[in-house]
Amino acid sequence: MKGAHKFSPNSGAPLSRDRRYPGTIPLREALDGSGELSNGKLVSDTATALARYFKRMHQRRHTHEDAELYQAAALAIKRLREHDPWDCWLWYALAERLHRRDDVDADVAWMLDHVEARCPRCGSRLQYEPSVSGYANAKCASSCGAGHTDRTVEIVERVLDLYADTFDEIDRITLF
Ligand SMILES: [Zn+2]
Repeated sequence: MKGAHKFSPNSGAPLSRDRRYPGTIPLREALDGSGELSNGKLVSDTATALARYFKRMHQRRHTHEDAELYQAAALAIKRLREHDPWDCWLWYALAERLHRRDDVDADVAWMLDHVEARCPRCGSRLQYEPSVSGYANAKCASSCGAGHTDRTVEIVERVLDLYADTFDEIDRITLF
């Protein structure tokens, strides 16, 4: 499945920046999840707490332990928090990072059931409205930003920037 969900006009994310930062997980499709990270807090108290949550959720969804994966996740979480502490952006970027590892089973789809994006400006919940692209647009439920409430592009860019700032591996990604 790797590469099957690249951000692109074909997969429903017609954003110009996608060509610079192609992703491999279906981020936009995953935005309307309703999972709660860390009891609904925007920012976990520690990187360790989030790493423990990752491990717990993985174990809930799988029959096997994966110590190597937990170690990789813990390391990535620590690095990601240096750039953007919000759990939800971190979680999406973490899924992307783990999905790109060559040496392990790249199953990260389960992660997307455990995250809920928030309004990047005020932290409110989001409301989703159908769009012509077939993917829902994410709008701030508190209507911050007077009149302009669509946050879809801001969310995608924030996650992509976080990923690029943290892992600096964009050069190595084959652009389509
Ligand atoms: Zn807002």
